[in-house]
Amino acid sequence: MAHTGSRKKARQRSRHSSARTPKYVYAFANGKAEGSSALRNLLGGKGCELAEMTKLGVPVPPGFTITTEAWAAYNAAGKKHPPGLWSQVTAGLAGLEAAAGTRLGDPARPLLVSVRSGARASMPGMMDTVLNLGLNDRTVEGLAQRTKNERFAWDCYRRFITLFGDVVLAIDRRAFDVRLDAAKARAGVKTDADLPAGALRELVTEFKSVVQSQTGRPFPQDPLEQLRLAIDAVFDSWWAKKAVDYRRIHRLPEDWGTAVTVMAMVFGNVGPTSGTGVCFSRDPASGERRFFGEFLVNAQGEDVVAGIRTPEPIDALKTRMPAVYRKLTAIKDRLEAHYRDMQDIEFTVQEGRLYILQTRSGKRTAAAAVRIAVEMSTKERRVDRDTALLRVEPASLHQLLVKTVDPRAKYAAIARGLPATPAAAVGKVVFEPERAVDMALREEKVILVRTETSPEDVAGMHAAQGVLTSRGGLTSHAAVVARGWGKCCVVGAGDVVVDEENHLFRAGRAVVREGQVITLNGATGEVIVGTQPLVDPTFSDEFKTLLGWARDRATTRVRANADTPADATKAREFGAEGIGLVRTEHMFFGEERIPIVREMIMAGDLQARKKAVDQLLPFQREDFIGIFRAMAPHPVTIRLLDPPLHEFLPKYKEVLEEYTRLDARGFNPERHAELGLVKARLEALLEANPMLGHRGCRLGITFPEIYDMQVRAIMEAACEVAGEGLTVEPEIMIPLTGTVAEMKLTREMTDRVARQVISETGKNVRYAVGTMIEVPRAALVADRIAEHAEFFSFGTNDLTQMTYGYSRDDIGKFLPFYLEKKLLPHDPFAVLDQRGVGELMRIGIERGRRTVPGLKVGICGEHGGEPSSVEFCHRIGMTYVSCSPYMVPVAWLAAAQAEIKEGEAQSKAGRQWQGEAQPKASRANMQSRHRRSKSAR
Ligand code: PEP
Ligand code: MG
Repeated sequence: MAHTGSRKKARQRSRHSSARTPKYVYAFANGKAEGSSALRNLLGGKGCELAEMTKLGVPVPPGFTITTEAWAAYNAAGKKHPPGLWSQVTAGLAGLEAAAGTRLGDPARPLLVSVRSGARASMPGMMDTVLNLGLNDRTVEGLAQRTKNERFAWDCYRRFITLFGDVVLAIDRRAFDVRLDAAKARAGVKTDADLPAGALRELVTEFKSVVQSQTGRPFPQDPLEQLRLAIDAVFDSWWAKKAVDYRRIHRLPEDWGTAVTVMAMVFGNVGPTSGTGVCFSRDPASGERRFFGEFLVNAQGEDVVAGIRTPEPIDALKTRMPAVYRKLTAIKDRLEAHYRDMQDIEFTVQEGRLYILQTRSGKRTAAAAVRIAVEMSTKERRVDRDTALLRVEPASLHQLLVKTVDPRAKYAAIARGLPATPAAAVGKVVFEPERAVDMALREEKVILVRTETSPEDVAGMHAAQGVLTSRGGLTSHAAVVARGWGKCCVVGAGDVVVDEENHLFRAGRAVVREGQVITLNGATGEVIVGTQPLVDPTFSDEFKTLLGWARDRATTRVRANADTPADATKAREFGAEGIGLVRTEHMFFGEERIPIVREMIMAGDLQARKKAVDQLLPFQREDFIGIFRAMAPHPVTIRLLDPPLHEFLPKYKEVLEEYTRLDARGFNPERHAELGLVKARLEALLEANPMLGHRGCRLGITFPEIYDMQVRAIMEAACEVAGEGLTVEPEIMIPLTGTVAEMKLTREMTDRVARQVISETGKNVRYAVGTMIEVPRAALVADRIAEHAEFFSFGTNDLTQMTYGYSRDDIGKFLPFYLEKKLLPHDPFAVLDQRGVGELMRIGIERGRRTVPGLKVGICGEHGGEPSSVEFCHRIGMTYVSCSPYMVPVAWLAAAQAEIKEGEAQSKAGRQWQGEAQPKASRANMQSRHRRSKSAR
């Protein structure tokens, strides 16, 4: 044989050099394998499970896997093979040939191989694979003779040139496809499968000339050269744009790299006793325990993917190939029992013989994940509760709580923004909040489309099914408010250009007019013209069971951010153990209230202001009564007024326009005078940077009557509800504290009014006064602030804003660029920056507890429902996290998982200490955890 000698030498060289070079190649064949599931990081998911299955005695074609370390060394060397790699590959190939009993390039009995990618986490379809490698002008004849099937051999060759041309030689696949279509037309047939051998042979000649003309070189005939080029191409496919994008979306590290598996080909396309398919050990959509899958007779894997023919359900295999079906059923049961998880299995049948080409933990919907985890732990007793809890992705639970676009829907989106909540919505486009309210009253479903929203728009947002904005990030006003309601919201859709004047928006070439129906896919941020089918949320028994387990297991507790009795009720339904943030300003926007709020702001003197403030008191008290009732006996943290006052007035631009118009025309003098006053007040309130201006406790200190009224309303409500026999635990929270003096003063103000109410009502309701920590300075002087505060709550929206110096509302302008250039790993307003903002939080907790051991500490920024941020909050010893009601189940699961993972890490560390005294850090940790769980309940 042409390369017998060189392979023997390679094997010797490989053995010789193995002391110096790392082991890059791991073989598997005939029941023996060098790797196992434990080597996932080194061999990738596909490679390690092929090794594991081989050892289990599952029929897997022989092969070998090149490690991710080889990929790393290849990249480090500037895309060159590291020393020793190629000799190990050829040695691996020799082993594979021995196991298969055929040889690569043997003209009489050629071995064909597939070259497959495989990262440690599955990245379906993102990287490349080459099939049928080893074919050339001589081996194709050998294959035809051996299989006595000329058509099959030439079909494999044309497929190989197409795939190799596309993946390895970077030839546009269409160059082959147009010729294939022309050949079908010439032969007068519809599908590839109907092309006769002669036509395929001609096609191969054409394909080779495509390669020659596009690369300037003939199609490589040497199988070893083919192999080397294919391995490099699969290595390089890690950097393909789609793979890079996929990793960014799924937050997978760039440096993992891919392993490459070289495996003997088996053929599902050699006749009616052959076929190929994919099956799941349970239904991946519902989680039901039933064999699920599809197969195609007389086909190769790519036919299934290409959708050229419609596959048959797996049950049909029972009648078509009963023996194969029985064997496959036994194997899927065996694999599921072995991995103790639902498996997604690829198989091929070659002339009645079954081969398993891949098994992996099957992707599933959130509903299926929950059902499978709970059933495996309860009915089947295959996994313990902790394992079941770890099996469900916390963020995926959100899918179960809102309406979503039917995953089977097919559509083309006209624009894409940031998905602020996963809920979907269908409705008629409106541009004005008032119109949204009007139409909703007429029971029409609407989508409010705005450049951005402001607190004034809240009624319209609430009335709408969904909100679309062209500006703003994930913590913009629209996103925060909609998330609180679990409402569909897509923000920062840069392609959407709103033309309010003409009642339309444009997105690329599409023009969408008011009244036209659109669908917002909240899960993806897509904007779609027309109606797409939506599916309802499901609350299965398994979901409730899993949530119960999570609550039992979590030591970091979960509260909700809720501003109304209705939100509070929803929060309880979803399992919140209290409210971590009531934003009282949201209560100011009610139809009857806004005129009074405006009166309060417009007041010329203290007396007038007090009069307006007093009118607000009953409204606030009623809200608090409703919230306390809904939440009893759990604590409710109410934040005193935070936003700058101008937010409650009409927009300056609009006032000025109307004022100027009336000025010019000279009629309606009353309105003109009214607008003049508003304009003057707005000018007086104007700030260059309102987010860093007159807001938070600065407002309460300079207008003490506002905070006095709010404290009174809270305490009167608490006393009333306590009088009904319910337990109330009000926690009054001061926003935006930055200095000890601010805390001391607002604490005194609060205590004075609270005590007054207690003495008036004779109800000794216990209350607490604490503060938000959202100004970096507050975290640094937390030890002093804790002298006056009974609890802390980290406002990580503002803390992120002030730590980075990024405006919450304007980050959308540069964030996409920063993410693309990897200047930021994530949107820091969505995923907590543990290094910077998190460090301030750690310092704040540590210093606060230095003064008050066991100080109650929570988080109420948007990060409180984001799983990785919840895990971090748990690690730094937070008492609770607080998030929107719809995120509560997500946060419970994330908190439970954090606890489990911490326990696992501790027992691992404990094992390493082998009986010595437990490490100090871990003991301290356990102590603080103990305190936390007691104080939280
Ligand atoms: C925060 O800043 O994190 C917070 C919860 O307050 P708001 O979003 O209302 O400013
Ligand atoms: Mg804030």
